[in-house]
Amino acid sequence: MSQDIALQVNNLRVSYKTGGQEVKAVDDVSFKLYAGERLGIVGESGSGKTTLALALMRLHKPPASIEGGEALLDGRDLLALDREEMRSTRWSKLSLIPQGSMNSLNPVIKIKHQMADAIEAHERGWTKSEISKRIWHLLGRVGLPESVAEMYPHELSGGMKQRVCIALAIILEPSVIIADEPTSALDVVVQRVVMQTLNDVQAQLNAAMIIIGHDMGLMAQSADRLAVMYAGKMVEVSPIGSFFKDPQHPYSKLLISSLPSPEEKRELAGIPGSQPSLLELPSGCAFHPRCPVAVDHCKQVIPELRDISGDRRAACHLVEDQAS
Ligand code: SF4
Repeated sequence: MSQDIALQVNNLRVSYKTGGQEVKAVDDVSFKLYAGERLGIVGESGSGKTTLALALMRLHKPPASIEGGEALLDGRDLLALDREEMRSTRWSKLSLIPQGSMNSLNPVIKIKHQMADAIEAHERGWTKSEISKRIWHLLGRVGLPESVAEMYPHELSGGMKQRVCIALAIILEPSVIIADEPTSALDVVVQRVVMQTLNDVQAQLNAAMIIIGHDMGLMAQSADRLAVMYAGKMVEVSPIGSFFKDPQHPYSKLLISSLPSPEEKRELAGIPGSQPSLLELPSGCAFHPRCPVAVDHCKQVIPELRDISGDRRAACHLVEDQAS
């Protein structure tokens, strides 16, 4: 994995304004995505993962609005592009496989027409036979036979539909792919196949990929690094091996201790309480009411996400700087 940066997000803030109140759905989030890497983003529902993905694509809808920050891709700030510049950047440089994407396929239009429409929406001048060849090539890339082009979505299994959605996302060979819950609503075996397809496609394109999800097992299998979100903030970012071996943030530790382990017989801990409402965040560290090691200081001061060693970051007052 190279250390060239494919996407750099600095201090991104996204809010929902409802009934005169402002909810900070993504609160001062900064991270780097390296060229060719797979960054997993995990967190409970409502932690800001999907809002982050939609904001990076500039596909968020009111009442969500971007309040600040920047997202640098190829030296340009995505958040400062005008509508036309963003339209031409989307899918060619940065593409999204949205949550529930397989249900967005039109059930009464053949796959080849849906794919041809997507190609023609971005690039003109292709002949019919060139488009057909390109569709077959894309289907092949995601492990589907050419005959799928002639089928309707209802004739495909969930896994096949999801692979069509992956093919649609890579039509213009983007350098960054964001996959939001790419395996949700699929059974466990199919999840593995779809995830493997996504990983293969990402490697073939040498694209960088953000994988958003809940399933820590799939993350362990696919991601190079993992970022954990809690109540709109990133609270830990670590290489995947170090994360599972030695999680730093108390929330990460609880996430891991709630996973079953085939080697070790131990009680599944679970995480006490539930994520707070973004409308009524606790003072200081938002995790303090659930944190087993919280101290008084945690109730008063919000911990910053800071470097704790060369390649690890955590937002917790009690995490030692491992470099010092
Ligand atoms: Fe727990 Fe305090 Fe660390 Fe927050 S800052 S995770 S409350 S120890």
